[in-house]
Amino acid sequence: MVRVLFLGGLGRSGTTLLERLLGELPGVCPLGEVVHLWERDVAGDERCACGEHFSECGFWREVGEKAFGGWHHVDVWRVLALRHAVERTRHIPRLASVRMSPAHRLLVEEYADWYARLYEAAAVVSGAEVLVDSSKHAALAYCLRFAPGLDLRVAHVVRDSRGVAYSWTKKVTRPETDNAEEMTRYSPGRSALLWNAHNVAFSALHKCGVPVRRVRYEELLEDPGAVLRDLSEFIDIAPGELGFLRDGVAELGPCHSAAGNPMRFTVGPVPLRRDDAWRTALPGGQRRVVSALTAPLLGAYGYRGAR
Ligand SMILES: [Zn+2]
Repeated sequence: MVRVLFLGGLGRSGTTLLERLLGELPGVCPLGEVVHLWERDVAGDERCACGEHFSECGFWREVGEKAFGGWHHVDVWRVLALRHAVERTRHIPRLASVRMSPAHRLLVEEYADWYARLYEAAAVVSGAEVLVDSSKHAALAYCLRFAPGLDLRVAHVVRDSRGVAYSWTKKVTRPETDNAEEMTRYSPGRSALLWNAHNVAFSALHKCGVPVRRVRYEELLEDPGAVLRDLSEFIDIAPGELGFLRDGVAELGPCHSAAGNPMRFTVGPVPLRRDDAWRTALPGGQRRVVSALTAPLLGAYGYRGAR
């Protein structure tokens, strides 16, 4: 069985930072957002977090060899077609249901099998006890339940919806592309609805038998050591001394995170500060819209000022 910790939640909730911190624990190997690896890396040859183009990175080259006899044997368009057919947020009720049609189930299993083969090879190449996939998408977590030989556990990362909404309005470039593309932006109303959908989906995942542990972004920044020790217990590893954490700074080493937030390229000391810019920078009208749309879950997760 390959143990995989899947980081779930809406983007801009601190999943990349959490993945980087987990990657410093002994026996843990962060893979990045595997959901984007097929198109951006296997087909697009974007950059791995080590700085190399994907095709030049020794780690991923070995994983590709072991998993598929080389990445050229991966039918990226088949993987993307399967993803389109089964891994959509609106498909989650069907993925969670016991009455899935046999034909649809075959597609889900075929899709999940691509991930299972990649994880299995990554576990062998890295020698790690636990792999971290920070793909975030709830529908993918539901699909991975159908992967063979997988010990799937999910960390559900939640951040105040107003902070998430503000972050989605900002311009961020993607350094892994050679032509400096920008990351997607959403209006606050749109990100509030996505925030609800993703969080509801992760809150219900445990009913399908997948172990889920909730992590609040604000608590992670408040006391990263406590959150990492809690997650270590959740994934059955010994966290060690956490020597890379000191005085509000994390000392991050290099990794081979394959796709995701630009923060995956950062090596060296990283200040662990809560980003609360939204409290002053998110205009009042937008803030009220987001608060109103997300009030029930904000309250359930213990956030104040939801109304
Ligand atoms: Zn690499």
